Amino acid sequence: MRYMGALAEGTKGDIIVFGVPFDGTASFRAGTRFGPGAIRAASHSLETFSPFIDRDLDVIQYSDWGDIEVPPGSAARTVEMVAEKVREIYNLGAEPFMLGGEHTVSLGAIKAAHEFYPNLAVLQLDAHTDLRDDYLGEKISHATVIKRVMEFIPPERIYRYGVRAGTREEMVGAGLEFPLGIEGGMRDIEKAIAKIGDNVPLYVTIDLDVFDPSLVPGIGNPEPLGITYREFIQIARLLALRNVVGVDVVELAPHFDQTGVSAVVAASVVREMLLCLARYPD
Ligand code: MN
Ligand code: MN
Repeated sequence: MRYMGALAEGTKGDIIVFGVPFDGTASFRAGTRFGPGAIRAASHSLETFSPFIDRDLDVIQYSDWGDIEVPPGSAARTVEMVAEKVREIYNLGAEPFMLGGEHTVSLGAIKAAHEFYPNLAVLQLDAHTDLRDDYLGEKISHATVIKRVMEFIPPERIYRYGVRAGTREEMVGAGLEFPLGIEGGMRDIEKAIAKIGDNVPLYVTIDLDVFDPSLVPGIGNPEPLGITYREFIQIARLLALRNVVGVDVVELAPHFDQTGVSAVVAASVVREMLLCLARYPD
C-alpha cells in the first residue's frame, strides 16, 4: 500500500516518500518499525485537500517507493542505507520525505541533505533534544541523533521546538531556561522560523512525541505537555513559505494506540508537510 495519491515506485515525482522500519535502539518501548505501514494505511482516511495550508495533494507529483529493507539491530548500517537512498533521490532532482522508524534514521537523511546543501538548516520538532553524546555507550541512537548531526551542522543552524524532557545539561545545551514555560512559546518558534531566510535550505525532522500524548499516544517515549495540532498548523503555515528541501516524520509506534488516532494524526502531518515541501504552483 502506498501513501494516498502517491505514484508507484520507479516513477519520479517532485517528492519521493520512503519508509524506514527500524526500531533497533528503542530505549523504552519498541514498535516504530510498524510506523511507515500504519501511516500509509491511515492516509486513505484523509482528504487530499488541506484547508489549513490551502493546497491540495492532487496538484503535486509525489511517489511512494515503499520501505528500505533494513538490517534489524544495525543502526550504523541503517543510517548509511538511508543516506544512500536520499542521495539517490536528490540526484534524480527530487526531494526526500522519510517515514520512520525511530529518530536515529534521520541522521542518514540529514547527512545526505547536507552534502547537497552545505548551508542546510535543520528544524527539529521533538519532546527531547536528542543531544546525548552516547546512550548506554551507543553513539548512534535515537537519543543522540541531533548530537551526531551537530558534528557537521553548526548549532546555530539547528532550530528546535517542543522540547520538554531531558537531562538538565542537555536542555541547557539546547538554550532552554528553567522553569520551562508552559505556554508552548509559540512566539519563539515564529521568531526562530523568521530567522531562517526564505531561501535557506531547510530540513524538517518531526519526532511525533512533540505532540501531546493525549493526541498521539502511539509513540515510543510519551511526554506530557506536548503541542496541539493547532500549534502544528501554525508552524506548517510558516514552513509553507520557507525553502523546505527534506522532511521526515518519525517515532510512530502504532500498536500503543488502540484507537488508531495516532496514525491518522501522523498521516495528516505527512499531508501538511508534503504540501510544504512541494513546488506548488501559484
Ligand atoms: Mn523525542
Ligand atoms: Mn527524537
